[in-house]
Amino acid sequence: MPRSTLLCAGITRKTRLMIKNSAKPTVTGTRSGYTIRFTCPNCAKENTIVYNMPKAFYKESRDAVCGKCRRHFTVLTPG
Ligand SMILES: [Zn+2]
Repeated sequence: MPRSTLLCAGITRKTRLMIKNSAKPTVTGTRSGYTIRFTCPNCAKENTIVYNMPKAFYKESRDAVCGKCRRHFTVLTPG
């Protein structure tokens, strides 16, 4: 069995509750073309989110996951 399958099986309802109950940190991102860039405050990785739909792109906030440390953030792009 691949290791990832085992990891997934180990993440139970308890983990999901923890994520739901903890407030997600917010970071400020910058729009560039149809991508939004933000720097992870946890590990300093620069992340890029690509949007194909303008509707989602022009929202002022969206959820994002850091590609390196897998932390969840609310990315704000005011204005
Ligand atoms: Zn990170």
